[in-house]
Amino acid sequence: MTAAVSLQNVHKVYNNIPVVNDLSFTIQAGEMFGLLGPNGAGKSTTIRMLTTLTKPSGGRIEVAGFDVVRQSLQAKQSIGVVLQQISVDGDLSVWENMEMHGRLHHIPKQYRQQKINQWLEYVDLAERRDDLVKTLSGGMKRRLQIARALLHQPKILFLDEPTVGLDPQTRRRIWEIILDLNKQGMTMLLTTHYMDEVDYLCNRIGIMDNGKLISLGTLQELRSAHGQGLVMKQVGDRLEYLFFPNLEQANAYLDQQVDKTGMMVRPSNLEDIFVELTGRQLD
Ligand code: ADP
Repeated sequence: MTAAVSLQNVHKVYNNIPVVNDLSFTIQAGEMFGLLGPNGAGKSTTIRMLTTLTKPSGGRIEVAGFDVVRQSLQAKQSIGVVLQQISVDGDLSVWENMEMHGRLHHIPKQYRQQKINQWLEYVDLAERRDDLVKTLSGGMKRRLQIARALLHQPKILFLDEPTVGLDPQTRRRIWEIILDLNKQGMTMLLTTHYMDEVDYLCNRIGIMDNGKLISLGTLQELRSAHGQGLVMKQVGDRLEYLFFPNLEQANAYLDQQVDKTGMMVRPSNLEDIFVELTGRQLD
């Protein structure tokens, strides 16, 4: 079976500085893949290459079986993109934004109008169809971006920090939409800084740092690899983390300590692993 997304030894260099460095991984159809990494790790650049917005300096990228450089048109037709910065036009109405995207994709009029109605309903924006986009809230604009990205029936959806800057309730609504689309069979790659977002949404996670993939697997696989039990230890004014294969071994370590002041055992989580790997917090 063809992978939905495949990167082989991908490099990207800006002004002689490597920002993506020998990146290789694949995403199978139907997966919900989370790409994590501290600021500057190269996540957005990776998404920009995957979505044909910038060309790789080396290596090979395929989406839906199409090479993003040699078959960029077919690749573009197979994907939907929701970028971090709000890319809808504030001076056009909700409907006009959808209409423009539909025309750019040469979707025939009758079918286009039916699909615009369907997706605006889906993201709860049908009643705002004639309003100028600049009058919408941040969450509504994000939902419009998602509806627009779905209009041409893509197989794969790329979301760059889909809930950044949104209030908790609005984030929940976006999560529900993302989960539901994935249940319907849509393959997704999303970048995020939020651990709860990864927990809630992603089947598999890739962690990037300095342009490289430094860890790849399910949350359970990452926890098994790095240690499922954690001892937190207060050393001066900072916390030290000690990983153990499981909670029993973490507890056994604690039991052996004569002075247990400032020490605590708990299961490890993605944030602990992220900090251990990158030396930085998630956000
Ligand atoms: P992330 O999304 O993980 O925060 P980015 O992909 O945005 O990381 O950036 C990775 C690195 O590439 C950063 O050091 C950034 O400054 C640099 N970079 C990104 N885009 C450009 C560009 N168009 N020109 C030059 N450098 C860039």
